[in-house]
Amino acid sequence: MEIAIKANKIIDGVSDEIINNKVIRIKDGLITEIVDINNFSPSENEKIFIYKSETVLPGMIDVHVHLANSGITNNRAFRAESVDMDYGEQSLRGYSYACDHMKYGFTSLRDMNAPGNVAINIRDSINKHDLLGPNILACGLGLSVTGGHMDQSGWGSHVKHESMTYPCDGPYEFRKGVRMQHKLGADFIKTNICVSSSYDLNTPYKQEMTDEEIEHVCNEAEMLNLKVASHTSGGKGITTAVKNGIHSVEHGHWLDDETIDLMAKHNTFYVPTLLVNERNFDFEFDEIFRKSKNWKWLELSREAKWISLEKAIKANINIAVGTDAGFMLPHGSMNYREIELLIKGGMSNMQAIKCATHNGGKLLGMNVGTIQIGQKADILIINGNPLESIEVLKHKENIVVFKDGELI
Ligand SMILES: [Zn+2]
Repeated sequence: MEIAIKANKIIDGVSDEIINNKVIRIKDGLITEIVDINNFSPSENEKIFIYKSETVLPGMIDVHVHLANSGITNNRAFRAESVDMDYGEQSLRGYSYACDHMKYGFTSLRDMNAPGNVAINIRDSINKHDLLGPNILACGLGLSVTGGHMDQSGWGSHVKHESMTYPCDGPYEFRKGVRMQHKLGADFIKTNICVSSSYDLNTPYKQEMTDEEIEHVCNEAEMLNLKVASHTSGGKGITTAVKNGIHSVEHGHWLDDETIDLMAKHNTFYVPTLLVNERNFDFEFDEIFRKSKNWKWLELSREAKWISLEKAIKANINIAVGTDAGFMLPHGSMNYREIELLIKGGMSNMQAIKCATHNGGKLLGMNVGTIQIGQKADILIINGNPLESIEVLKHKENIVVFKDGELI
C-alpha cells in the first residue's frame, strides 16, 4: 500500500526546529521519500492524508515497561494478581496493555521482565502479524541474585512461585542465566546490579551482584550479541557495570561524577524513570509511613534524581523515556508525564520529545523514532503542538496513530 502524509508541521526527531510543508511518502510500511509539498505529484495508487493544523511526530518509545503487570499500587493485590492468573491470561492482558501504549502514541516498547515468557509471546504474535500492536523488545526474565530485587522474599516458605525472575548466584549461574534467556528468545539481558536500601540512609543504595558477576553477565551477553540493561540505584556497582559495557542504566537515582564521565565515554544510555518515583507522592499516606525510613528514602531519591538528571543533561548522555508502566503506573495513560518531568528537570520540550523518539529508537537499535527515509512509518498526528504543551499527549483523543504506515 502506498500512502502520502501531507503535513504543514513536522517534528522529525532529528531537527531542533519544526519542519514545514512536506509530504512523507510510505510504501510497504517504510518511509520511502520526504518531499516539499510544492514538488509533490501523487501517483495513481497513493492514498493521501492531509494535516494542516496538526503536528506530525515520530511514534514514541517507552523503553521501560512491564506488560505482565497491571500497575496496581496495593502491594498485596500486586502479588495476588501474579499468582491468580495463568501466563496465558497474563499474555492476553499484556497485549491489551501494549495496545494502550500505542493508543497514547507509544508505538515501540521495551519490556523489562515478564514471567512465563509473557512479553516474548506478545512480541512474537505481533511480529508474526497474528496481532496488531507496537514493536516490542523483551528480555524474558531479569537476572537477580537469590532473594534480591526481583526475587523478593515475603512469600510463605511453602509457596513455589517460580519464574518471577531468574535467580542466579555466582559467575557461573549468571552466565547460564544469560544463555537461558537467550535460548528462550530474549532480545537483551536485564539484570539487577544495585538496589535501594533504607538500612543506612547515609548510603541509600546497595550493590547486589558482585563485580565478578557483573563482568561475567556483560561478557556472556557480548558473546551472544545481546545488550545488557540494569536496574540500578547508586554506588560503585553502576560504575563497574558501565566499565564493563552495560548498554543502559535504569533508574540510576545516584550517579556520581566518575560514572557520568564513563557513561559519556561509553555512550551508555540513561533511563531515569522519573515518574515512578514521583508517583509515590500522588498518594495520601498515613503518618506511620511518612515517618518511616522508606518514606525518607523516597524523599532522598527524589532529591538525588534531579541532580543526576542535571549532570546527565550537562554531559550530553543519551537519555531515553522509560516509565516503568506496570509497576505503580497504568499502561499508556501516564506516559506523557515522564516527558513533562524531563522538561521540569531542565530540558526544552524539543529535547524531551527527542528523548521519547530519537533516543528511544537508538536505544532499541530499531529503525524507529525519527521521520527519515528508511524508517518504519510509525507516525503520530497530534491535535495540538507538544512544543507548546506536552499536555496534548495526555488525551488519546488528540493522537492519531499510523503503525507501519497503516492508520490505526
Ligand atoms: Zn522496572
